[in-house]
Amino acid sequence: MEIVILAVVIALVAVGLISGLVVSSRKKKQLPPSAPSSTPTITPPAEPRVGEEAETPRDEARRPIEEVGVPGAGTPVEETPVVVEPEIPELEVPEPTAGRLVRLRARLARSQNSLGKGLLTLLSRDNLDEDTWEEIEDTLLTADVGVAPTQELVERLRERVRVLGTRTPDELRTLLREELVTLLGPDFDRAVKTEGGDGTPGVVMVVGVNGTGKTTTTGKLARVLVADGRSVVLGAADTFRAAAADQLQTWGERVGARTVRGPEGGDPASIAFDAVKEGIAEGADVVLIDTAGRLHTKTGLMDELGKVKRVVEKHGPLDEILLVLDATTGQNGLVQARVFAEVVDITGIVLTKLDGTAKGGIVIAVQRELGVPVKLIGLGEGPDDLAPFEPGAFVDALIGD
Ligand code: GDP
Repeated sequence: MEIVILAVVIALVAVGLISGLVVSSRKKKQLPPSAPSSTPTITPPAEPRVGEEAETPRDEARRPIEEVGVPGAGTPVEETPVVVEPEIPELEVPEPTAGRLVRLRARLARSQNSLGKGLLTLLSRDNLDEDTWEEIEDTLLTADVGVAPTQELVERLRERVRVLGTRTPDELRTLLREELVTLLGPDFDRAVKTEGGDGTPGVVMVVGVNGTGKTTTTGKLARVLVADGRSVVLGAADTFRAAAADQLQTWGERVGARTVRGPEGGDPASIAFDAVKEGIAEGADVVLIDTAGRLHTKTGLMDELGKVKRVVEKHGPLDEILLVLDATTGQNGLVQARVFAEVVDITGIVLTKLDGTAKGGIVIAVQRELGVPVKLIGLGEGPDDLAPFEPGAFVDALIGD
């Protein structure tokens, strides 16, 4: 009997053990594969132990920058490379400005074939009859050289070709080069004036109709100056176009130039004033002021730009007023130039978008119109696609050398 009872007890225990195993294994299956411990939010974060590889972003923030391995900021850690947003934005190093036009000449040559190469082809004809001279004239007019300069050039070319008699292609190229360079005014002083007096920053105001590339040019010019070792403060006084201040600030941040800005629709004159004040306070070399160019009415424009100029000049005289013109707008650009010249004293012209037009002759026409030199040209949307204007290099790009 006792043996029977013992056997029953053993059997019961065995059944109990088996069912327990089954239940626990079922429970295990119900758990998600990588379930965290039941209450992660109240568990205090474990302190990182020596040798642990994974680190939280907070830990990264606490580590000195050399340890984290920000590019260029020290020796990177050996084990796992850690990707961290650099806290200090990396500054770009703009291209040097010397020889930019030569480097960018392909942009001009591509778009200017009809002017330079067209003229050379026409002049190379065996028989330079009246029709050919008319074609030469048309080529110049089509390229926006303007009526008076075209007539002058054709007259001089006719005279020189006649004296030359037989012509070799090389002689023709030299002759055309000389005449075009003469027409571009090789003696103009094309340096952008950025030297202030008495240790104060040079102040440059950038004006022009919206859409001509004014803000972009101001940003590119900041890069030109930084490339030449100058420190720059930007004044976002185009408060009319919503994105203009952001756009300018982005340009500035890329090269470490501070931007002074105000509320959208704010008073451009007070922003311009504050920008110069800031430039003086931080001992900057140059202050560049971007302005709004609404050609609503001449009086409106005059009021607006006139006020900006007057207010800025409370700090001292402006060193340069650059007029930005879009080369693709042709005669319309000349009309704009006339209006702006009546409102403020333009001291230099920036011709933008010369990469996208065959109308490079506008350089000649606008200088004639205003009696003011083209100082810079825009040859693309890239950050360093703004070049100091050099007549010789420009003509070489047009006709090849
Ligand atoms: P703003 O209204 O006068 O300040 O004009 P933006 O600076 O905003 O420029 C208007 C447009 O012209 C932008 O898309 C610029 O990238 C473009 N732009 C400016 N300069 C040049 C240039 O030299 N070449 C080309 N192809 N585009 C340019």
